[in-house]
Amino acid sequence: NSDPNPAHIILIPFMAQGHMIPMVDVARLLASSGALVTFITTPVNAARIRPSIDSIENSQRLPVRFVQLPFHSADVGLPAGCENVDLISSPDLFKPFMKALSLFGEQVKLYLTATNPTADCIIFDSMNSWVGAVAESLNIPHIIFHGPSCFYILCAHLLKKHQVLKRIDDDYKLFKVPELPEPVEVMKAQVMSLKDRPEWEKESEEIYKTEKSACGVVMNTFEELEKSSLDKFRKEIGKKVWPIGPLSLANKDLDSKAMRGKASSIDTGLLLSWLDSKAPNSVMFVSFGSLSRNPISQLVQIGQGLESASSSELSFIWVVKEAENSEEVENWLSEFEERTKGMGMVIRGWAPQAMILGHVALGGFMTHCGWNSTFEAIAAGVVMATWPRFGDQFVNERLVVDVLRIGVAVGAKVPIFYVDEMSGEGLVKGEEVRKVVEKVMTIDEEGEERRKRAKELREKARKAMEEGGSSFENLKRVIQFAKGEKKAIGMKL
Ligand code: UDP
Repeated sequence: NSDPNPAHIILIPFMAQGHMIPMVDVARLLASSGALVTFITTPVNAARIRPSIDSIENSQRLPVRFVQLPFHSADVGLPAGCENVDLISSPDLFKPFMKALSLFGEQVKLYLTATNPTADCIIFDSMNSWVGAVAESLNIPHIIFHGPSCFYILCAHLLKKHQVLKRIDDDYKLFKVPELPEPVEVMKAQVMSLKDRPEWEKESEEIYKTEKSACGVVMNTFEELEKSSLDKFRKEIGKKVWPIGPLSLANKDLDSKAMRGKASSIDTGLLLSWLDSKAPNSVMFVSFGSLSRNPISQLVQIGQGLESASSSELSFIWVVKEAENSEEVENWLSEFEERTKGMGMVIRGWAPQAMILGHVALGGFMTHCGWNSTFEAIAAGVVMATWPRFGDQFVNERLVVDVLRIGVAVGAKVPIFYVDEMSGEGLVKGEEVRKVVEKVMTIDEEGEERRKRAKELREKARKAMEEGGSSFENLKRVIQFAKGEKKAIGMKL
């Protein structure tokens, strides 16, 4: 931090928890490596992540400026305060949300025009493709942050390059993704993304366009984990690609782990003493990220599976989100908790996930395969039960189960939109949940091998983030790039 003339880097995250959280980690890493960081968001998001940012600004005295600009929800017909994807109560509101986001772009432009010191570089989430045009109009070098795994981003590029989805009629037939260095099979239904959102095609076109104008790409992965995908992706786009993860490892102290994304809904002292009372590798953590919601019929099946798998030797922590927890669910849950007392814990709301995954009592993680969750498990050396819901998650499942071989599939074949709650079609039954929990937690020869591979990856992940490691060095390169641009701009003036 002794640099008298630090690079000033602007961060613009997409407003969804799975996108804000890694960007806060990027802020922490850049600021602790000598950059001056400005983090731009809206009031509602600011209130949520204020504790994380405070822990960067105050306890560590790192140079992160936190800027809140107004989000004009009402102008586009959004309920007041609807400033994050997880606050969108109906899919119909996603379109106005994206519209409000592009209006937000005008605020950002005004801010960037006036900010002092001037911005040397912008790092922005690929879902905010509007930043590309703003940055170009102000002549500011910009770098895209792709939140998903490189494996998924590469898959998406190759599917587009070969026009695969246009050629395939059968949504449920398995096919191989062409040119993928580690060949895996997927279904069209699994990769065509959001079934109910035809705008997605246009939005993804915008992302590709912005990727072309950007100076490079930053990713939350590390060289040794996804080497063949990264090499191939670099060739495909012909740009610098800097993997700087696992970003979750930027949170070293307990406070920053407890505050990640949002304040924990459970007393962390209580949680830690509960975990401390359990044997190593004996707890299954069950959580499906910030967005996907289980209907009550699915919650009941999950509960039945966990109840029948648990014993004095096998316990669970299960996160039931606020958006899932109706009065009916609550009635069912309180009886469930009575029956499973001592063997399980239900967290209602927001769990301190990074803290839980890092505890020695953890033996497995049932996850929806969002990339942050998946990668947090990899960084913590935890094996997984994979249960993808939509988006990039089915492809991440293939990476975990087929390529890295550190997970067991629960067996969900199609996105959550295809589940028919009335008929029960597409629901995963309690019996299947029980089987997969037992399989992941059992330490037979296969289970042992899986755990060994997971622990090896954890060590590689740690090394990548340490001084001299691949991600550590890449982060320095990003800062050098921003400084180089600073000099170039200075010379032009
Ligand atoms: N998360 C958390 N507590 C929760 C739910 C989620 O800390 O109760 C964090 C999780 O650790 C991860 C992020 O929220 O960092 C979720 O991102 P992911 O990509 O896994 O899934 P998404 O929410 O985008 O579907």
